[in-house]
Amino acid sequence: MDFEPFIRDIEDFPKPGVVFKDITPLLKDYQVLLKASDALCNMVADHAIDKVVGVDSRGFIFAPLIASRLQAGFVPVRKKGKLPFDTVSASYELEYGTDSLEIHTDAIMKGEKVLVHDDVLATGGTAKAVCELVEKLGGEVVQCNFLIHLTFLNGAQKLNGRKISTLLEY
Ligand code: 5GP
Repeated sequence: MDFEPFIRDIEDFPKPGVVFKDITPLLKDYQVLLKASDALCNMVADHAIDKVVGVDSRGFIFAPLIASRLQAGFVPVRKKGKLPFDTVSASYELEYGTDSLEIHTDAIMKGEKVLVHDDVLATGGTAKAVCELVEKLGGEVVQCNFLIHLTFLNGAQKLNGRKISTLLEY
């Protein structure tokens, strides 16, 4: 299935000069949502995944769907200060300054195989920080999975050769 017609370009969002890829048209159609979820699962090469890590906040849409299909647990990575239990954190670069992402210390066991999922790979800073969090806990990132890869932003370079799969590339 071609998912591109279900991705909407929003110009000047969230600020002037940015063209934002809006995935909500893809989500609101049940058949397309199901097919996108199937396609994301089919791209996972290693099905012996223990945990699917979803990234705050649009990564939370598909990550639990993928996790349930792969019979894996779902783990949220959240922006600083949102998780209630003990956390480890990793910082990532924003246009001006840095921010950090957090994961619960008991979310992943040493040696577990992890699939990282987010909606969009842009500059790669977010996904890189998420991989670092998984690895700090002793997990193995076996694949990073996205709906959309904005290739012109060279985010893949930041992922240092980690396996990447994506439904759509721009
Ligand atoms: P990066 O750290 O790779 O530059 O940015 C990726 C993060 O920003 C993802 O968590 C993603 O949700 C968000 N993001 C950046 N650009 C877009 C976009 O055009 N559309 C959507 N839906 N999310 C974006």
